[in-house]
Amino acid sequence: MLDRIELQKKFVTVGFEENKNAKDQTYVNAFGSNDEEHKFTLQKFREEFKIKITEKREDYLEFEMEGISAAFANAFRRIILAEVPQMAIERVYFVQNTSVIADEIFAHRLGLVPILADPNMFEEYEKETEELLTEKNTIVFKMKVKCEKERDSSGVAVPDSILHEKVYSKDLVWLPAGSELNKEDLEREKGLPTTYSNFSESQEIKFGKNGIKTVHDDILLAKLVPGQEIELEAHCMKSVGSDHAKFSPVGTCWYRLVPTIIFKKPITGTDAKVFMSECSDPIPNHKCFELKGSGAKASVEIKSTRGCDLCLERVRELTGEGDWAEKVIVLKKRDHYIFTIESVGSRTPEVIFKEAVNILSSKCQAALGTL
Ligand SMILES: [Zn+2]
Repeated sequence: MLDRIELQKKFVTVGFEENKNAKDQTYVNAFGSNDEEHKFTLQKFREEFKIKITEKREDYLEFEMEGISAAFANAFRRIILAEVPQMAIERVYFVQNTSVIADEIFAHRLGLVPILADPNMFEEYEKETEELLTEKNTIVFKMKVKCEKERDSSGVAVPDSILHEKVYSKDLVWLPAGSELNKEDLEREKGLPTTYSNFSESQEIKFGKNGIKTVHDDILLAKLVPGQEIELEAHCMKSVGSDHAKFSPVGTCWYRLVPTIIFKKPITGTDAKVFMSECSDPIPNHKCFELKGSGAKASVEIKSTRGCDLCLERVRELTGEGDWAEKVIVLKKRDHYIFTIESVGSRTPEVIFKEAVNILSSKCQAALGTL
């Protein structure tokens, strides 16, 4: 069993009513003047820092990070949510909308559709300057959907067959050559471009045919009845999550401390029976704890010190009953995180995390430069 100081240094104690030692004590001499062990040094950080991927899918990444302060873990989380750039639909020009959805609601909905495009290939558009949209800062999509009854070759309506009843994200068609929407004749008289963009070359040269599209084809955007139609042009730009949540590259991103269940003394006899029924039994195939022996000789063995989502909370609750706090303790390792990133699909979580590291690094460089 760990001594009291060791416990304070390395763990947060998860209590029944409150968590103890939750404050990060990374400052020098937090535990006395000769506390060499607790002092931050670059050398020590290099030796102790570990990172390990535990689960990886196309749009999901879970990894463990050890030997780093909560300030860093949280900085990465916040940078990922708010400062890693992303492309999203920012302006929508409606030509026709006879659906029941109001223009502004539909435009907002389009903004939330994830776009498969690498923001590093684009420049940020300065909204205040009203500069022209170019192939370097804008992606243009158009949508033209009309719901109608399907007709056979002789023009007779086919019974119960309606075309374009549902509008999906796949109805957003990429225009690599830029805007096709004509502005007022006034612009033409002034010699300005007559559409909303001024592309010097097709984006297909850089991104290839069908190089840019929505991440998912099947996001339902609207429902129409025969006769209703939607025609619009959408301009997609680069920005960051702190500007609007639609520019966040992740659906969510969070971390938690690694939990540890420790028996302060052996759990035997009646206690073993109570412990198993409170924390383990009704969960099918639960393998975190094992009951050995029976009757007075029964004892509980911990098979997984981390527990699982199902039993961890129950063990914590048990520590609030009777004298269980004397027997069981739930700890969370202070500098060991399980970090999870769920991407919206434009870029993989690894790329997003690396970008967050680069952003933090450039912030540090900028701060050092001002000293
Ligand atoms: Zn469990």
